[in-house]
Amino acid sequence: MPHRPIYLDNHATTPVDPRVVEAMLPYFTEYFGNASSTTHQYGWEAEAAVGRSRSLLSTAINAAPEELIFTSGATEANNLAIKGVAESYFAQGRHLITLATEHSAVLDPCTYLESLGFEITRLGVQPDGLVDLAELEKAIRPDTILVSVMAANNEIGVLQPLAEIGAICHRHTVLFHTDAAQAIGKIPLDMQAMQIDLMSLTAHKVYGPKGIGALYVRRRDPRVQLAPQLHGGGHERGLRSGTLYVPQIVGFAKAVELALESREAESARLADMRDRLFSLIHPIGGVQLNGHPTQRLPGNLNLSIEGVDGQALLLALQPQIAVSSGAACSSTKIAPSHVLTALGRFAKRSLRESPDLAFASLRFGIGRFNTEAEIEQAGAAVVQAVQALRSPNVHEPGKPH
Ligand SMILES: *Cc1c(COP(=O)(O)O)cnc(C)c1O
Repeated sequence: MPHRPIYLDNHATTPVDPRVVEAMLPYFTEYFGNASSTTHQYGWEAEAAVGRSRSLLSTAINAAPEELIFTSGATEANNLAIKGVAESYFAQGRHLITLATEHSAVLDPCTYLESLGFEITRLGVQPDGLVDLAELEKAIRPDTILVSVMAANNEIGVLQPLAEIGAICHRHTVLFHTDAAQAIGKIPLDMQAMQIDLMSLTAHKVYGPKGIGALYVRRRDPRVQLAPQLHGGGHERGLRSGTLYVPQIVGFAKAVELALESREAESARLADMRDRLFSLIHPIGGVQLNGHPTQRLPGNLNLSIEGVDGQALLLALQPQIAVSSGAACSSTKIAPSHVLTALGRFAKRSLRESPDLAFASLRFGIGRFNTEAEIEQAGAAVVQAVQALRSPNVHEPGKPH
């Protein structure tokens, strides 16, 4: 196989664990039935597999099996939660609260609702990326119907205080939704202790297949009303029609089962590699960690590096490591992403005070299949690329200067 870059983009997606693939395979061929076919064994087999998976997943989050609605992923789950609540509760109020640092799969449904006449409050975050709980509570109004705050941020890895937010929401009888796409299998998620009413999940960030996820929908205290966004055969208690994708559901459950089995050991291993990578890069100077130093996903390292052009650094690194940029590029200018912008200090220094200051920001997502040797190589590659780009004497050999 030709040489490929070291994969350090595990927040974008993860490889499917071979044990997950193995669990899925029989459901493509032998047990291929439609889980809604109630008149024969093929249907029963598929339905039994779905039932086992649903039960495993609901147990993992301390919920009841009937409270999980399978979807195509977290994007669909977020849309179902946000638009479904808006459509069901608009008579009670038309105000929703979310964070400026949410994924676009939360922000864009909110913007869509705004176009329909709903009001959205997008709260800023503290410089470390955490929500200000007092500010959140102050933003709640009598017409607020939903608070949507993500569990773990996909760029800076910051973990929001879910239990505290859940307590505030329940005190004000406002529904609480959380996008836990990056959190499932990585941090404990308990629907009762955290008082979460709706939670979006996906499999492909936790070594499961793409194209499968779920929405947790609380059934008691309170019983959440949700307007379906896909109408049809009435699958998933009428909330999400469409023939269930049995192999993906089996793979999703297997992925979460494996993640929970090894969660503590894996977290410790990832955090060690993350800290090692930081200690390799930090000595070059001008390196800033984005997001809270400890209240974050163990595999996440998001760095801003001063004095280098972001695009040039990514280009230099491409053959060696697959990493994501914390910046949104336009044709001529590179600007920090909406998440880094929301952290404030970064945007202020780089954009307002000195708009031409070169900077790069990199998001490293370290995962289950990364090795210590890869981390050493990646750290060396970043150091070398930054030093080469910062050097004032860079010129093409043989060219007069
Ligand atoms: C990846 C991601 C999504 C989108 O999930 P899909 O399953 O790919 O639709 C939503 N929110 C967050 C925080 C994510 O990281």
